[in-house]
Amino acid sequence: MRVLGIETSCDETGVAVYDSECGLMGHVVYSQIATHAKYGGVVPELASRDHVRKLVPIIEETLSEAGVEKSSLDGIAYTSGPGLVGALLVGASVGRSLAWALNIPAVGVHHLEAHLLAPMLETEVPDFPFLALLVSGGHTMLIQVAGVGRYRVLGESLDDAAGEAFDKTAKLLGLPYPGGPELEKLAQQGDPARFRFPRPMTDRPGLDFSFSGLKTFTLNTVKKHEGDPTARADIARAFQDAVVDTLVIKCRRALTQSGIKRLVIAGGVGANAYLREQMRELAERQGARVFYPRPSLCTDNGAMIAYAGYCRLAAGAAEPLGFGVTARWPLEALTAA
Ligand code: ATP
Ligand code: MG
Ligand code: FE
Repeated sequence: MRVLGIETSCDETGVAVYDSECGLMGHVVYSQIATHAKYGGVVPELASRDHVRKLVPIIEETLSEAGVEKSSLDGIAYTSGPGLVGALLVGASVGRSLAWALNIPAVGVHHLEAHLLAPMLETEVPDFPFLALLVSGGHTMLIQVAGVGRYRVLGESLDDAAGEAFDKTAKLLGLPYPGGPELEKLAQQGDPARFRFPRPMTDRPGLDFSFSGLKTFTLNTVKKHEGDPTARADIARAFQDAVVDTLVIKCRRALTQSGIKRLVIAGGVGANAYLREQMRELAERQGARVFYPRPSLCTDNGAMIAYAGYCRLAAGAAEPLGFGVTARWPLEALTAA
């Protein structure tokens, strides 16, 4: 089965072709960073308009990169939530219309399910059940995954998501948007021994997270060391260490409590090299295995949407000709494939 995947939930236009025999055949991501950078964050209306301009040319580019004709597609998957409503509607209407024109089925995909299943596009894939740490721009969750569509949220952030904390802290340090990757670069030059930031909510039981306090801690530290030329890098390092260490502590707890030996790291913060290294060490210590998508499939992309859509279509999902999108959509509301 060959599926075209379309991602437009936020500020990336992603398109890919996944084939159940050949794997990932084509994969193109256009990021709107330049559009939003001067505002310091995503402007929803500008995001929708950029998707309108870019989506059809990117579909053409992806098909030509994959070397496939539209007529060879068996289905189309588009992100139907959660995300920005206007942006989602662009992908949904184009995807649904194209499927109608080609007389093939279309399926709306849950963006977070797609993030969770992204490691399935790599050569070493986890068996079910597994634990997943989803760390993205909008979410931080520990999830027990029994199968496609069978999710139990074990813990989540009570305030900022991990990616959001990276982005806001980067802004405080004067780094350009989007801050996560910039902060990682700055932290590489930092001295890990200079500052120690708190590991929020690790001193009590449970698997929830809270990252908004770290932002305030960073702000106070920045103010205290104004004029010190090396402080910014040392602060970036201390912040990254605190977030990663907190995530590692909670993952260790979840592995121990569940007895599950497979851990998936998904979402944009999963592209962070220090996080990947620390999680690999954790897995080694716990006698567990950790699975990651390649960094380009951690952040938003069409490949994960094509794959999640394939899982749904292969299980017989059939949607009517109408379509809708959902800005807020709990993962546990999904049904098993
Ligand atoms: P969601 O998936 O929750 O709807 P999103 O789609 O905006 O949110 P993703 O695309 O999965 O989020 O991830 C983007 C986030 O990942 C941003 O907050 C970004 O700063 C962060 N990020 C990307 N690369 C890195 C990195 N190397 N280190 C830390 N954070 C990173
Ligand atoms: Mg993005
Ligand atoms: Fe995402």
